[in-house]
Amino acid sequence: MAKVLVVEDNPANMKLTSLLLHTAGHDVLSALDAETALRLAHEQSPDLILMDIQLPGMDGLAATAILKHDPATASIPVIALSAQAMKADEERSQTAGCDAYIVKPLRYKELYAVMERLLAKPREANNQAAHPRRPPA
Ligand code: MN
Repeated sequence: MAKVLVVEDNPANMKLTSLLLHTAGHDVLSALDAETALRLAHEQSPDLILMDIQLPGMDGLAATAILKHDPATASIPVIALSAQAMKADEERSQTAGCDAYIVKPLRYKELYAVMERLLAKPREANNQAAHPRRPPA
């Protein structure tokens, strides 16, 4: 079980994402905009952040860049959520420091798999290249 901060301005998407996370046994913190997300990241130290890219005001990539440049929040893994599969979005999310990238609509198997991979990594290693875990022999 993890404490997950969901940053999403669309109420229907927020509801669905929260449901998927609750179903998997996680605690959910929600933010409708980037400014609230930055505050909650500091106050609540979530284990992981799901960050919508398209937000009113500051966008999700700008918010991620701020989090990744702040030692207090840099180690929190961030999964970028994009409304559409755009190569530019994926590259920009990597540049901003996002640890993973998922295209909406969310598919629960993909979400859980990416979350499991990121939560299994030691915090300090989150910004390094991914080392896929081998299944036990
Ligand atoms: Mn949005």
